[in-house]
Amino acid sequence: MKNQSIWKLKPTNQKYPTLKDDIHTEVAIIGGGITGISTALLLAQQGIETVVLEAREIGKGTTGNSTGNLYSLIESGLSSIEEKYDLTTLQRVVDSRKKALSLIKNNIENFQIDCDYNNRSMFYFDTDNNLNLNKERKLALEVGITTTLIKDENFPFRISQGLEFENQAQINPLAYVQGLAKEVHNLGGKIYENSNVTSIVEEKDQVILTTPKANIRAKKVIQATHTPKGLQIQYHTTLGPYREYGIAAKLKNDNYPRGIFWGFFRNKKYSIRSYKFQGENFLICVGNMHKVGQTDDNLSQILALESFVKEYFEIEKITHRWGGQNYKPADMLPYIGKKKNNSKQYIATGFSTDGLVYGSLAALILSDEIIGRKNVFWNLYKAYRHRPLKVAKNFTKENLNVASKLIGDFLKSGQNLDLKKMMPEQGKIINYKSGKIAIYKNKSGDFKFLSPICPHMGCTVRWNNAEKSWDCPCHGSRFDPQGKVIEGPSLKGLKRK
Ligand SMILES: Cc1cc2nc3c(=O)[nH]c(=O)nc-3n(C[C@H](O)[C@H](O)[C@H](O)COP(=O)(O)OP(=O)(O)OC[C@H]3O[C@@H](n4cnc5c(N)ncnc54)[C@H](O)[C@@H]3O)c2cc1C
Repeated sequence: MKNQSIWKLKPTNQKYPTLKDDIHTEVAIIGGGITGISTALLLAQQGIETVVLEAREIGKGTTGNSTGNLYSLIESGLSSIEEKYDLTTLQRVVDSRKKALSLIKNNIENFQIDCDYNNRSMFYFDTDNNLNLNKERKLALEVGITTTLIKDENFPFRISQGLEFENQAQINPLAYVQGLAKEVHNLGGKIYENSNVTSIVEEKDQVILTTPKANIRAKKVIQATHTPKGLQIQYHTTLGPYREYGIAAKLKNDNYPRGIFWGFFRNKKYSIRSYKFQGENFLICVGNMHKVGQTDDNLSQILALESFVKEYFEIEKITHRWGGQNYKPADMLPYIGKKKNNSKQYIATGFSTDGLVYGSLAALILSDEIIGRKNVFWNLYKAYRHRPLKVAKNFTKENLNVASKLIGDFLKSGQNLDLKKMMPEQGKIINYKSGKIAIYKNKSGDFKFLSPICPHMGCTVRWNNAEKSWDCPCHGSRFDPQGKVIEGPSLKGLKRK
């Protein structure tokens, strides 16, 4: 069994260099996920000098940990947008998502990207008659999404009600982004991997980005980092960071379900699909979402996912396990656009679990803005918007939660621990004379001592025993056992103790 997403089965042939010399560019994009690379391609196609800086490897952030489903609907249901806003807003959200879906399809066709694209139906259902599917169905038809009731006798799950939405799609998201990156490179765009940006300084006529080996000066910068980097309180207080898990499995029989299955089983949502790679089938299941850094036992979440799958399928073996992060915006719409009114920096965040499509949409909106074209969806997703009434309920909920983590976890004592008794590949927060220490013991029995205080806003990190990382419960920064940033808003790693 591999502790990585199934998409990494497909080998990557492309590697990009690390940035070693100072450079200038028109546009610098931080982050090589679907958002950054799709934007880079649209800019490179217009002949705009573009540089992508990726901290790790292209596509291996959240994009490479996703489920690879492409749909015009949204995670929270169509009614959630109609209820918070109105039917017109919902129509615009759906229209904008359809535009992004066309972009993805066209890219795959034009560049012949080998990413296992398949047209598929999406099934939205529950087992306990709790969803208001009549309303979902009515809204879907009103905004131009064809839908029918699931009546199939051979439907793979026993359900109480469900809807089918035809003509949605599935891909291998990592292969798609790597395919796009190749085209960026072919068009003269520059891509650097293992080049993490550690500081962003905006001056009057340029933005200076620092990476460990060289600096880059750009006229404009796009933060395609899933969540904005550094201290950006107006965004981080309106984004709820959530973690969920994925597993892939081989079945004892050939009952691999075909389609996108979004089911509420006893009120808990799971996303299920299958994937065929080199003639071999795999079942994929994603679920068990919780706030980042707010579970005492991440591993139990993955094990629960495995138990769930075993209840419904005859599993031969689990082949892959992984986790991924989502940022939920308080007013339910992503933030795409200029960071502040006169800023030279742009952001794209708050995609919930719908970001393969929203990330592609962000690419359309941001590239239009940089090229100087008016995009009809600019105002809908405008990043520096102010919608206090739309934000209020979720804002209060998320920030009370953060406040309790900030103060509560700091006051809570660490453990008093006999280091000899600590298991290998585990982390613990312990009390010491000078305060608390985050300790990690590696396979060979060596220890790493770090400050448990997240450099972003000072919350105390927690050990994630499934993914071997230190996770911040406030705004979702995650650090590897050596203290290096994996993801989230923090630009700096955990301090050594
Ligand atoms: C389990 C799971 C399943 C999902 N399934 C779906 C799905 O089926 N369909 C769907 O539409 N959406 C899905 N999503 C959501 C979707 O995957 C994300 O919203 C989307 O991939 C975000 O893309 P991105 O490019 O903005 O971010 P990422 O893919 O995370 O890319 C950001 C990149 O920025 C880099 N970076 C960060 N900081 C720095 C720095 N300081 N310097 C340089 N680089 C940096 C990271 O290394 C990373 O590669 C899912 C999410 C999860 C967690």
